[in-house]
Amino acid sequence: MLSIVRSQEPDAGQAPVKIEGSGIVKYYEGKKRSTLALDNISFDVRDNEFVSFVGPSGCGKSTLLRIIAGLEEMSSGTLKIGGKDIEGPGADRGMVFQSYTLFPWLTVRQNIEFGLTLQGIPLFEKRRISERFMELVKLNKFANSYPKELSGGMKQRVAIARALANNPKVLLMDEPFGALDPQTKHSMQELLLDIWEKEKTTVVFITHDIEEAIFLSQRVYIMQAHPGRIKQTVAIPCSLRSQAHAKDSDAFLKLKKQVVSLIGDHADE
Ligand code: ADP
Repeated sequence: MLSIVRSQEPDAGQAPVKIEGSGIVKYYEGKKRSTLALDNISFDVRDNEFVSFVGPSGCGKSTLLRIIAGLEEMSSGTLKIGGKDIEGPGADRGMVFQSYTLFPWLTVRQNIEFGLTLQGIPLFEKRRISERFMELVKLNKFANSYPKELSGGMKQRVAIARALANNPKVLLMDEPFGALDPQTKHSMQELLLDIWEKEKTTVVFITHDIEEAIFLSQRVYIMQAHPGRIKQTVAIPCSLRSQAHAKDSDAFLKLKKQVVSLIGDHADE
């Protein structure tokens, strides 16, 4: 059965909480006025959970993800990862952005090994790790290619491999498939689910694409804009994506309709 739960409702008997945000407020100070981007955001993400934040443009998704990444400071509130306050960026969080952020002068292998090189990991170990992740994202044959020789989907596969190679506790994804054509986007979503199941990574994913959020996630936080708030949490049954052509199933379409109407109801508030 589909279930819609209130945002702070505890889920008994699940994995421990990995990320916990409470009362997060974010103002952007301008010359003439300040913008309230996030208003009293509270959420949690459990160990190995795949959680999405979905909402219209301007609801604060990127701001929230950047705060979790430690790239942006919150105005007030608390945010903990593994029970510790987040203070700036850290190797415990890997980030994948919508725009392709590969180093153009490095090959696929060198891009994936970049963080490992910075950490001083010995060559043999670096090679072992990059081989494993190139295999995971199915890019072994392109180890020596440069980003300009790759399609958009392939570049994002390298970006995912690069983030995972550093063994982060949490993968933060900012609309990573937003610039891809629908078919490539769908195969990337399937690949990401496959990786998530194999690697047991905790994923925080932001998107404005409701279908994408439902397809990928175990839970979806629905946000509204002006100011950015969380309106609802939707628990997604895993049975929803386990069947062939999952996105066309009656259950999937029914839930999508529910989420669309939830966002629609509040988008202009
Ligand atoms: P989303 O990712 O959901 O589109 P954002 O997090 O980008 O939303 O933006 C949330 C709100 O904060 C918007 O009103 C946006 O205009 C404002 N905002 C975002 N970044 C800045 C910034 N650097 N300076 C001022 N306002 C900003």
